[in-house]
Amino acid sequence: MGYRIGFGVDYHQLAEGRQLMIGGVHIPHPKGAVGHSDADVLLHAICDALLGAACLGDIGVHFPDTDQQYKNIDSKILLRETMQLVSRENYRLVNIDSTLCLQEPKIKPYIGEMQQTIAAIIGTDEKNISIKATTTEQMGFVGRKEGLVAYATVLLETI
Ligand SMILES: [Zn+2]
Repeated sequence: MGYRIGFGVDYHQLAEGRQLMIGGVHIPHPKGAVGHSDADVLLHAICDALLGAACLGDIGVHFPDTDQQYKNIDSKILLRETMQLVSRENYRLVNIDSTLCLQEPKIKPYIGEMQQTIAAIIGTDEKNISIKATTTEQMGFVGRKEGLVAYATVLLETI
């Protein structure tokens, strides 16, 4: 049996007048993430980690932000299509570990729903989807609430 590790990172600006989508879940907040799609930073980092583990390039290769079909697209669709690419290479997910980095709002109340959402798309147990959250103690662009970051590590095994 073969194993493949993958890593992904994603950044988005925060601005008023946008919805805040993280991990496929809408989080009520005065600011949302700016991007061509729904700018779901966690799902994008997970997609990049999955693609990385399978050595399939990155999210920008498969879903270019110059393509109008991806404008404001629900990133859950991108995750589903990414998993199809990975499955086609005969891999399945072992687990994901991820960390969100943002100053506010508090993410903890939404983590269970994010785990369920992501696990359902991937077809795995939610215990295989770890989501952690941290602030930067007011430092840098995250601390100034100008943006947010997500990091994800995944492990795939060959089927
Ligand atoms: Zn992104």
